Amino acid sequence: MAERLGIGDKINAKIRAMRARVDQGKEMDYYFYNQPIEELRGGTRVRTQGREMLMFASYSYLGLIGHPRINAAAKAAIDKYGTGTHGVRSLAGSLDLHVELENAIAQFKHSEAAITFSSGYVTNLTAVSTLVGRHDVVICDKLNHASIVDGCFLSGADFVRFRHNDMDDLERCLRRAEAKATKLVVVDAVFSMDGDIINLPKTVELCRKHGAWLMVDEAHSVGVLGKTGRGIEEHFEMEDAIDLKMGTLSKTIPSVGGYLAGSDDMIHLFRHASRAYIFSAALPPAQAAAAKAAFEVILDEPERVETLRRNAAQFMNGLKQVGFDTMLTETAIVPVLCGADERAYEMVRYCQHDDIFVLPVVSPAVPDGTARLRATVTAAHAPDEIDQAIEVMGRAGKKVGII
Ligand code: PLP
Repeated sequence: MAERLGIGDKINAKIRAMRARVDQGKEMDYYFYNQPIEELRGGTRVRTQGREMLMFASYSYLGLIGHPRINAAAKAAIDKYGTGTHGVRSLAGSLDLHVELENAIAQFKHSEAAITFSSGYVTNLTAVSTLVGRHDVVICDKLNHASIVDGCFLSGADFVRFRHNDMDDLERCLRRAEAKATKLVVVDAVFSMDGDIINLPKTVELCRKHGAWLMVDEAHSVGVLGKTGRGIEEHFEMEDAIDLKMGTLSKTIPSVGGYLAGSDDMIHLFRHASRAYIFSAALPPAQAAAAKAAFEVILDEPERVETLRRNAAQFMNGLKQVGFDTMLTETAIVPVLCGADERAYEMVRYCQHDDIFVLPVVSPAVPDGTARLRATVTAAHAPDEIDQAIEVMGRAGKKVGII
């Protein structure tokens, strides 16, 4: 390794510490990350390192990865436009496909307009940092996704966090920020490590009362919440409750990218002021076409949303029955509380040994002592596959001493 010898240089120390942490994990057979998937069969069976496993760690909530209509749309786009664009959206990078995708998103989200970016992560960075800056305040739920947190730091606004889903604490934060001219509240619709849902009605009420704008990250709510999978507003039967709806094209939507949906004026601002839009290349044609087809499939095949809801209930209730603590989840993200990091690693080792692909989430991604399996269920799972996972996880839980 090339080392630099600056006084107080910390990069060498960081490199060594990370190498040591990962090597130790590998020695103890605790390292499960970055396993390449070699094949996907039927939406739920994956081949990795030569072994076939049942996938219970996928974000493809409606089982749309590999959907023939979506694949065909992506292939047709490559034949028509090639594999890349000619640059950034504002210059030569915009295709009619991007406009069609943005119109489809706006319609799906019941918004006046929408805009797309090259990842969900970048979408959150640019959303927060375009809207607020120095002298403003941005108020976040404590468990918001890292990309929102990074957007808050990038913005330079005062960054305040309220206790998770605690509406009294949100109101306290809003009161304390009363002197700020611009207040932005940002929350996840469904929390990515816990699977619970933000109290949207109360959040909206408080934002209106205190003159704050509201942005909601729907990465895990599109396709999951609401009768037709349109997300959190549909779930709570609220219209026009959210000023800015953010989502990804990489979870229920089997593509890549992110979007913002809102009023025509708000989206116009992003199209001309967002640095991520102005200075980063457009989505490739295949990915834009796949995303557009996926929004259409969700509306044309509504039974998928219902199947997901049934599967999530079967999975969650089955895990509870064998004695696991699945925390506060109400969705397809089902945390299985293990406690210490080592117990989560042990659980994963036993599960993967018995061909159930789940992954651990450990500190610092979650608070110390709340390491968990972050299992996910999709509409593609058959009931007997879910039963198989519950049985394997139950056996593992007994061996590790969690249940
Ligand atoms: N927001 C939430 C809540 C997420 O869970 C994620 C990804 O895990 C993102 C944003 C970032 O989206 P992407 O992976 O599409 O960049």
